[in-house]
Amino acid sequence: MGFSGGHDEREQTLNQILVEMDGFTPNERVIILAATNRPDLLDAALIRPGRFDRRVVLSLPDLVEREAIIKLHMKGKPFTKDVSTEKLARRTVGFSGADLANMLNEAAILAAREGKTAIDNKDLEEAATKEKLGPQRKRMQSERDRKLAAYHEAGHAIVGHNLKNVDPVHRISIVSRGMSGGHTLFPPTEDRSNESKSRLIEQVTAALGGQAAEQLVFKDISTGAASDIDVATSIARAMVTQYGMSSLGPISVSPRPMFGMWRGEESAEMSPKMHDAVDAEIKKITDACYKSAEELLKKHKVKLDKVAKALLEKETLESDEFESIVGKKKS
Ligand code: ZN
Repeated sequence: MGFSGGHDEREQTLNQILVEMDGFTPNERVIILAATNRPDLLDAALIRPGRFDRRVVLSLPDLVEREAIIKLHMKGKPFTKDVSTEKLARRTVGFSGADLANMLNEAAILAAREGKTAIDNKDLEEAATKEKLGPQRKRMQSERDRKLAAYHEAGHAIVGHNLKNVDPVHRISIVSRGMSGGHTLFPPTEDRSNESKSRLIEQVTAALGGQAAEQLVFKDISTGAASDIDVATSIARAMVTQYGMSSLGPISVSPRPMFGMWRGEESAEMSPKMHDAVDAEIKKITDACYKSAEELLKKHKVKLDKVAKALLEKETLESDEFESIVGKKKS
């Protein structure tokens, strides 16, 4: 349930649910279950004792659970012998059960489309990428656009590769998908429930690596970095306003919506002065990260050129191809 419709519609749905639920007497053995992925939007009236008063939180599946889910959805589909459920489970950190089911269906469709008799690792990798980034979009790209994309993605990869806490590069591609002109994947190699300050800083740095490479090579930047800047800014914002990781100290200046509170009632509390201070801290973080991305790229310019060149030739580099150019990641 997510009451995201108009106000009237939302109120009516809510009232109707409450009326229905109040119709049971305590000795009627009826249990009502409901699921939502936005518990923060639920009305307080819904979660009062006697209504939906028990909560079971389902988090994303961990490694063992993902492998079990994968096995479940693999039943009845043919796979080549080299497909490993363990490897697949490792590759899919952050996938929900539904994502995994979709991924396996998608892989089956890809295999069938190419007339294969069994689903292989290539189909699964493509399906996993598609699940998170959308389908490949072959489109006409000018030579300059391709070169820009190649340096942009190589920039993310080189910066990430040289930062201790960023996960290893899994795949780099300049084939556009969904809204993006290319992608560099650093899928998490482990299930983390906590992020450290140094890891967050490095994530912001890697996110800005694409734009820093464009600036370094072309002395100009494109609009292709918009979503990177979004990512970098929102991580930096969370560091300042939620995690107490700035010189403002351990304060929470963006009250997270409390359970049962409507959205829109939040965030009114920040004073204009605090607003400015927060913005200044965010800028401090992103500026410093941009600078360190720039420095890493200057230092590794030869490798940056090599990776960009390889991307222009092959369009997609898997982790081993990338490492054959830049060497193994130091950990
Ligand atoms: Zn980018």
